[in-house]
Amino acid sequence: MAAFGTPELMTSWGRVARQRAARARPAFLDEVASLIGQARDTTLLGIGLGRSYGDSGLNAGGNVLDMTALDQVIAFDPKTGIIRAEAGLTLNALLRIAVPRGWFLPTTPGTRFVTLGGAVANDVHGKNHHTAGTIGVSIRRIGLHRSDVGAIELSPDTNAEVFRATIGGLGLTGLIAWVELQLVPIGSAYLDAETIPFTGYDAFMALARASTPGFEHTVAWIDCTSSRDGRATRGLFSRANWLDDGDLAAHDDRTHATLPLELPAMAINPISLKAFNALYFVAGSRKQGRQRTHYAPFFYPLDAIQNWNRAYGSKGFYQYQCVVPYAAADLAIPAMLGEIARSGQGSCLAVLKTFGAKTSPGMLSFPREGVTLALDFPNRKTRTIELFDRLDSVVAEARGRLYPAKDGRMPATMFCKGFPLLDAFSQHVDPRFQSDFWRRMSQ
Ligand SMILES: Cc1cc2nc3c(=O)[nH]c(=O)nc-3n(C[C@H](O)[C@H](O)[C@H](O)COP(=O)(O)OP(=O)(O)OC[C@H]3O[C@@H](n4cnc5c(N)ncnc54)[C@H](O)[C@@H]3O)c2cc1C
Repeated sequence: MAAFGTPELMTSWGRVARQRAARARPAFLDEVASLIGQARDTTLLGIGLGRSYGDSGLNAGGNVLDMTALDQVIAFDPKTGIIRAEAGLTLNALLRIAVPRGWFLPTTPGTRFVTLGGAVANDVHGKNHHTAGTIGVSIRRIGLHRSDVGAIELSPDTNAEVFRATIGGLGLTGLIAWVELQLVPIGSAYLDAETIPFTGYDAFMALARASTPGFEHTVAWIDCTSSRDGRATRGLFSRANWLDDGDLAAHDDRTHATLPLELPAMAINPISLKAFNALYFVAGSRKQGRQRTHYAPFFYPLDAIQNWNRAYGSKGFYQYQCVVPYAAADLAIPAMLGEIARSGQGSCLAVLKTFGAKTSPGMLSFPREGVTLALDFPNRKTRTIELFDRLDSVVAEARGRLYPAKDGRMPATMFCKGFPLLDAFSQHVDPRFQSDFWRRMSQ
């Protein structure tokens, strides 16, 4: 029978936020109710594989329910593509079951090492947001355990408001025990993927607009060092559609390499950053054109290196991801790119993408129609926080918002302004569920 252990140190993916909490790792669904019933004087939080960058998966001084051993498929109908599984099932494991049978996730984040529960709690999005929306659009039912009312079932018709609060609800409405999801049919595990080098934000937008009707997946890597005024930033635009050649080989489960040690903090500095980005751009430009590409390198390039988050050294790193509406993006995105280039900070992991109009049921869902910018920053303490403050001003002025899954420092005012359904959401927060992120936002 699972029980909470003594408090242990837990670290977020960005490795800046670290806190102690007592962990229990149930192996059977019927253990969950009694664990929630234990230790009534402490707070609780469900956690998955810890791929959130900031403090949304931490609960300092409280208890956490680690769901990674609850990873069984409860039901899968290969005729309809409807799958019901325990919340700890990883997207990695789900794909190995679904792909050979001709099904894929309706949308996927840039790593397959996340759990179903974590994917729902952050209402994750992927390269097909402009056609498919977030994962919340395809969730049919959720099994939720609350500390006040026990186990309940949620769907668009049953406990509908709690359903909407739980999708993108940052684990605060209770513990997600299982999820029922509609998969999408595929005729191949391969995509017809095209890479197009571009220079300038206007060129990026022209490519995004031209690709929206005909391409299911679009995204651009950008060289964040390349333009001090942010107008001439160069990058590699990638767009793809599934092939239909009947080759349904799932990915190889083994990762290719492991970063064994933390790199020294100085390994990423303005000079190495500029050089690496330039090399990456040149190498990517050489590969321009169309290529038959398996879904694993297309959707999950970083999964090829285990523990890549150690590359930023012992101080860790932040990710900054914002979305700004189209009406303001033409000014806001170049302004941010200019700030970042002039600061000499940033990394080689920088992405621009357009979000479409399909809305999620999730009350706190991050994506909205517009342009999203996401990039990692090694933690240079005050210098980095001051840069984020300047970026925040641009995002706030543009009436945009930041992604809580990636955040470890946004001011509460920014969160309140960015998420207009926050008050409605707050009514469904479980009285015992808490996170460091939520405490920070509630101050
Ligand atoms: C390399 C990389 C690429 C990424 N790319 C994308 C991307 O393209 N798009 C995107 O949207 N996100 C992306 N992410 C973020 C990632 O998809 C989310 O942070 C995801 O939620 C992590 O899932 P997890 O299982 O690790 O959950 P954790 O990080 O452990 O937890 C995330 C949240 O879910 C809650 N939670 C987890 N399990 C449960 C449960 N069973 N019940 C209740 N609450 C629960 C936690 O309390 C926490 O609030 C990326 C992350 C990485 C590291």
